[in-house]
Amino acid sequence: MTVGSYPPPYPGYSRRGGDAPANQQKLAISWPKNVTELHVHLGGSVPLYRLWEIAIDRGIRGIGSGYEDFINLLKIQDGKVKDLDSYLEVYDKVELIQSGPASVRESIIIAVHRAYRTGGMIKVGPGGEGGSPESLFAIRRFELRWNPLKRTGAVFLKGSHAGLYDMDRVIKSAVNALEEVEIGFREGIQVGHIFCFGRDLTFEANMALARKTRLWREKTDKIIGIDLAGNESINPLSNPRRLEEMRIVFEEAGPGLGRTVHVGETNHVDVETFVKTIETLNPSRVGHPIAAVRALWDKKDDRGIKTLKERKIVCELCVQSNLLTGAVKDLQEYGHILRTLDEHGIEYTFSTDAPSLQGTSLAQELLMLLDSEAATPEQILRALKVAERASFLPPPAPVTS
Ligand SMILES: [Zn+2]
Repeated sequence: MTVGSYPPPYPGYSRRGGDAPANQQKLAISWPKNVTELHVHLGGSVPLYRLWEIAIDRGIRGIGSGYEDFINLLKIQDGKVKDLDSYLEVYDKVELIQSGPASVRESIIIAVHRAYRTGGMIKVGPGGEGGSPESLFAIRRFELRWNPLKRTGAVFLKGSHAGLYDMDRVIKSAVNALEEVEIGFREGIQVGHIFCFGRDLTFEANMALARKTRLWREKTDKIIGIDLAGNESINPLSNPRRLEEMRIVFEEAGPGLGRTVHVGETNHVDVETFVKTIETLNPSRVGHPIAAVRALWDKKDDRGIKTLKERKIVCELCVQSNLLTGAVKDLQEYGHILRTLDEHGIEYTFSTDAPSLQGTSLAQELLMLLDSEAATPEQILRALKVAERASFLPPPAPVTS
């Protein structure tokens, strides 16, 4: 696919009834006016042309011999992305461009604008702008996740080095950016940071980030949660020592933070490791827990599903991202996953993961699920309600007359 193409040519995707009639039907669903999006990475939230502008402005090297070259380097597309590892390679480059207090600030402001203006649009143009004036809803509560250590210029060193920029300055800049945009939007959007620890980082590097998270959490309410992200192939956490280290990192980040964990997106995490990771890190939400569903389907092993159910864990599902990385084969299989979760009373939400790099919006992805009959309107409306409730953001202030 190319960025912004619609409909995406995924296996199993067919758009019934052509454009107008099918769309009219979908648009007629009683969508809520405002929605919450939980799972979006800063690295995937800045359109390519804006990243190019930032890279040129800051004098970043290694960005190709021209804009076209740059686009080819960074575009997440079918054919180039085979799995989670190749998907994450793009992030390394983006994180370098987004490094330093000034670039972090600019990237966050762009990311919030993107969510505010285009998150509900049914079609997004190639540059990440709205491709259609029609919106299903508006994103008005938004959680943005990223790794401050990977914005210190230490990206190619995988965080084992302190990098070029000061982490305190990077975090302070990010906190200021949210405070400023919220004032600018007249509190029309509520945003919080989730800091991601890295599977690909050393224990020492993750601990450095954990200490900074604790420190800054005491100064601001803009840091709402922590996450674990990165290549499952590098560190599946099947090694008990590595898992214990991650427990220490999570504890070090301090109390009062929401916890989510990317786990089970690939087959590098078996169901045993999936369960142990959840028991050890104690998240209330998990990103793409596909391994738990597959273990049930393929081996009749329900330990992962039981863990999700018993702990009332909310699953963060990102449809297009899961199709791109091959975590899920096609939309029919996605429908099967949703039915399995429903049968076991496990709640889930939908998010875009990397909307700008994938050229998508939350509304566009939900329409894709509806058009392909992978999800029913009832499932989607329920998922939107779950997202609102499962958010780490404080509840919106009651409207006073
Ligand atoms: Zn993610």
